[in-house]
Amino acid sequence: MSATLIKGKPIAERIRSEVAEQVNEIGHIGLVTVLVGDDPASDVYIRLKHKAAVEAGIEATDLRLPAEISEHELLAKVAELDADPDVDAILVQLPLPDHIDEARVIRALEPAKDVDGFHPFNAGQLYLGRRTLVPATPLGVMAMLREHQIELQGARAVVIGRSDIVGKPMAHLLLQANATVTICHSRTKDIARETLAADVLVAAVGVPGMVTPDMVKPGGVVIDVGINRTEAGIVGDVDPGAAEVAGYMTPVPGGVGPMTIACLLQNAVVCARYRRGDIVYPS
Ligand code: NAP
Repeated sequence: MSATLIKGKPIAERIRSEVAEQVNEIGHIGLVTVLVGDDPASDVYIRLKHKAAVEAGIEATDLRLPAEISEHELLAKVAELDADPDVDAILVQLPLPDHIDEARVIRALEPAKDVDGFHPFNAGQLYLGRRTLVPATPLGVMAMLREHQIELQGARAVVIGRSDIVGKPMAHLLLQANATVTICHSRTKDIARETLAADVLVAAVGVPGMVTPDMVKPGGVVIDVGINRTEAGIVGDVDPGAAEVAGYMTPVPGGVGPMTIACLLQNAVVCARYRRGDIVYPS
C-alpha cells in the first residue's frame, strides 16, 4: 500500500489566485513585514512571503531593522504601523533577538492587523471557538484536509508539538472540527501508543524523521509540518517510509510549506476586510 500524497502546491496556487481576485476587488491591501537582524532563515521566509504577496497584487513593504534596535524603538515602530491607515496587515518575523521580549512586541500589534494571528486576543478568540485571525500554518493544514474530504468529526486526531504558532492552534482547529484531540510533546510518555490510534496525525516537532512508519496507524492521514534543514536537504518530521503505511500523507517539501504562505495572504485579505468594515472585528 502507498499513501495518496496530499500536495500543497496545487491547493496553494488556487488560494493565491483567489486572493489575487479579492485584492483586485478591494483595491489596495498594504502589508508590512518587519525583520529585525539578519537571520538567514528569516530572510528566506520574508523573501518568499514578499514574492507571493506582490504576485497577488498586495502592496508589501519589507521593513528591515538592525539587530541592535532597542525594544523601546521597535515598540515605537509597531505603534507607528498600527496607526498608519495605509497599513492593513503587519507581520513581525520571529524569532526576535534575545534582548527583545517577543510577547510584548506581539501584544503591541493592533489585533485587527495581526496577519499571523499571534496576538493574545486572536489566540484567545481561537481558544474560545470564535475564529478571527488564525495562524497560517494550521489554517493551511485544515484546507488540505478539507480538499481531500478527510472526515474529522469523531476522528481521533493527534498533534505532536504544542507551539503557539503551530501545535496549539492546530489542536484547537481540529477540536472545533469535532475531532477527539490529543496533544503530544517532549514529555509525553510512549508517543507511539498515542500516534498508533490516530486517524489524523499532525507532526509539528522540528526533529527530522521522528515519526517512524511503525508509529503510524495503517490507512491513517499523516500531515508533516516539519521543515528541517539537514545535509540531505530539507526533510520533514515524518520518515518518508510512513507513506507505505498511511492512507494519505503530505510530502516535504511541497506539502504544508506552500499552504502557509497562501493562507498568510488570505489572512491579509481578512485584515483588509476587517479594517474596511466588510466584516466586523469583535470588540
Ligand atoms: P517549536 O516551537 O520548536 O515546537 C516544537 C514542539 O515539538 C514543542 O512543543 C516540543 O515539545 C515538541 N517536541 C520537540 N521534540 C520532541 C520530541 N522528541 N517528541 C515529542 N515532541 C517534541 O517548533 P514549531 O515552530 O512548532 O515548528 C515545528 C516544525 O514545523 C519545525 O520543523 C518548523 O520548521 C516547522 N514549521 C513549518 C511550517 C510550514 O510552513 N510548513 C511553519 C512553521 C513551522 P515541548 O513543548 O515539550 O518543548
